[in-house]
Amino acid sequence: MRLLLIGPPGAGKGTQAVRLASHLSIRHISTGDLFREHIDQGTALGQQADRHMRAGLLVPDEVTIEVVKERLARPDVERGFLLDGFPRNAVQAVELDGILADSGSRLDAVLDLEIPDAEVVGRIAGRRVCREDRGHIFHVEHSPPEVAGTCTLCGGELYQRDDDREATVRKRLEVHHSETAPVLDHYRAQGLVTTVSALGHVQEVFVRALAAIGRSQAVVPDTASD
Ligand code: AMP
Repeated sequence: MRLLLIGPPGAGKGTQAVRLASHLSIRHISTGDLFREHIDQGTALGQQADRHMRAGLLVPDEVTIEVVKERLARPDVERGFLLDGFPRNAVQAVELDGILADSGSRLDAVLDLEIPDAEVVGRIAGRRVCREDRGHIFHVEHSPPEVAGTCTLCGGELYQRDDDREATVRKRLEVHHSETAPVLDHYRAQGLVTTVSALGHVQEVFVRALAAIGRSQAVVPDTASD
């Protein structure tokens, strides 16, 4: 199965992507995480991405598309993938269609996680991410770790992403509305988009998302980390 997960910052894309990919046994590919790995490794690409990310702006298309192309060329995506955070504008969407067409495949569904802007700022301000595994995500009020600053799942250090500060979040929201919303129009025209409310508990959103792609389950174990 080949899926896209689209939504504004703070919609819970990362959290849902990890759970959906694991449930469906497909690869989770987050362009934000790929950039953060480059930043950690101090590569030239990472330095370039970092400047844009800190400003709440999109990393230039040519850099982003190259990173995605390279990732989708690896054999581990053969069983399918869930792209989280890509495409983020119309140019990237057209590029992705081309990359998939070249390999004789196509998308199965696009999940649009919907959340009001007013919710986003509070959600992101309290978000803390594990340095060891970025899929381990907590919230200082709504899903606090057992020990403040420490990941309950693996003991890693929790930190606040630089681009999770309020002014940057507002900029990221602006960019989402102007650049990423047209991506949905692109895929609506292909009949692929289902909109899912991102409000409520992680597990509720997960069940909604599964239903939206026709994979509802009577009992879904709750192993939520946030
Ligand atoms: P995320 O982890 O998805 O919230 O992404 C964090 C940041 O990485 C974004 O605010 C952008 O600066 C950058 N980024 C992630 N994905 C893309 C993309 N597809 N195109 C351009 N920039 C991206």
